[in-house]
Amino acid sequence: MLKNKTALVTGSTSGIGLGIAKQLAKQGANIIMNGFGDYAAAKAEIEAMGVKVGYHGADMSKPAEIEAMMTYAAAEFGGVDILVNNAGIQHVSPVETFPTEKWDAVIAINLSSAFHTTRLAIPTMRAKNWGRIINIASAHGLVASANKTAYVAAKHGLVGLTKSVALEVATTGITVNAICPGWVLTPLVQKQIDDRAINEKISVEQATKELLGEKEPSLQFTTTEQLGELAVFMSSPAADNIRGVAWAADGGWTAQ
Ligand code: NAD
Repeated sequence: MLKNKTALVTGSTSGIGLGIAKQLAKQGANIIMNGFGDYAAAKAEIEAMGVKVGYHGADMSKPAEIEAMMTYAAAEFGGVDILVNNAGIQHVSPVETFPTEKWDAVIAINLSSAFHTTRLAIPTMRAKNWGRIINIASAHGLVASANKTAYVAAKHGLVGLTKSVALEVATTGITVNAICPGWVLTPLVQKQIDDRAINEKISVEQATKELLGEKEPSLQFTTTEQLGELAVFMSSPAADNIRGVAWAADGGWTAQ
């Protein structure tokens, strides 16, 4: 279904981004990976699906590096057809002691990076009159939790950016939507579970139960495969007129 399309998935060396990259590749999309850490095995696994795979190590907190990545995408892949803004970090702290450099980093990586990739991707998408921009927000793009001010502000901002850009391109073949996952068991969440186990002197198993029980009525994690399938659906013709939505995949978290 996505043969001859190119998907850039930011933060795709791990977790949700990697899951989405794999599902898009299964549908035939070429993939540009991005993110930190060792990516060789994941790149080889996606290449084995018979698609072209590139990698650019842009630090998503740095606009000049994002520009270099988009130039690379244009030169090597003829531009980005499906842009998945997924790179993100978390920092948990009460607002009065929230380190200002952490605030700046969370806003830069989780929100401003999507502004930069979006502004740079749209001209090519307009020329082709086709494009998909999928922003990985969060349940925290729709509701808040304490001690996550930067993350909640960034994710609410990302939902706002999604709606605003969706309106700007509403008469074109470009759609812009957000996915708002609840808990997904990735390194980002495992760290929160481990911290909780240490702080409360409980087992990791008990900390996992508590984490889910607090927010997620289904008491289940959403999987990276399920989020990948949602991105595939949003990239399909059935989603041609789905514009500016913030789609919860959160086990009922935001239905409460
Ligand atoms: P993860 O830590 O497994 O992956 C994060 C990815 O982003 C990695 O590839 C990492 O290298 C990359 N990254 C981090 N900082 C970067 C930077 N400065 N430049 C480039 N890449 C960078 O986390 P995840 O759980 O897969 O999270 C992915 C996205 O999903 C994030 O935006 C996160 O906020 C969102 N999300 C996660 C959950 C969850 O429960 N895991 C829930 C809702 C939303």
